[in-house]
Amino acid sequence: MDDLCLICGDPLQAADVVVVTRGLQTLVEASLTRNDGLAAKMEGASSVRLHTICRKKYTRPSSIKAHASMQDNDTPSEAMHEEQAPHLRSSTSEFDLKKRLYLLWYRGQHA
Ligand SMILES: [Zn+2]
Repeated sequence: MDDLCLICGDPLQAADVVVVTRGLQTLVEASLTRNDGLAAKMEGASSVRLHTICRKKYTRPSSIKAHASMQDNDTPSEAMHEEQAPHLRSSTSEFDLKKRLYLLWYRGQHA
């Protein structure tokens, strides 16, 4: 295997390689926050291979913050929290309606 780690550029060894597919977006976002150009290398890729340790270091919010002091309040976990909270609040009545309909259906099935 002569693949190179996208993050540190060293050769990958089978023992400590992680294939990132579903987490690709996280890496892209980390790269955009760092503005290091890695996002461009990952563009269009369906998976990337990295050292396990490099990926951990790269996507750790505190590590990203150290590289991007301009955007120190924009960690991935906070962004996710902000997306979810208003959605839950605004859809409460819709959820209650669905729950009621489900209960009606449930009683119908078990009457
Ligand atoms: Zn590496």
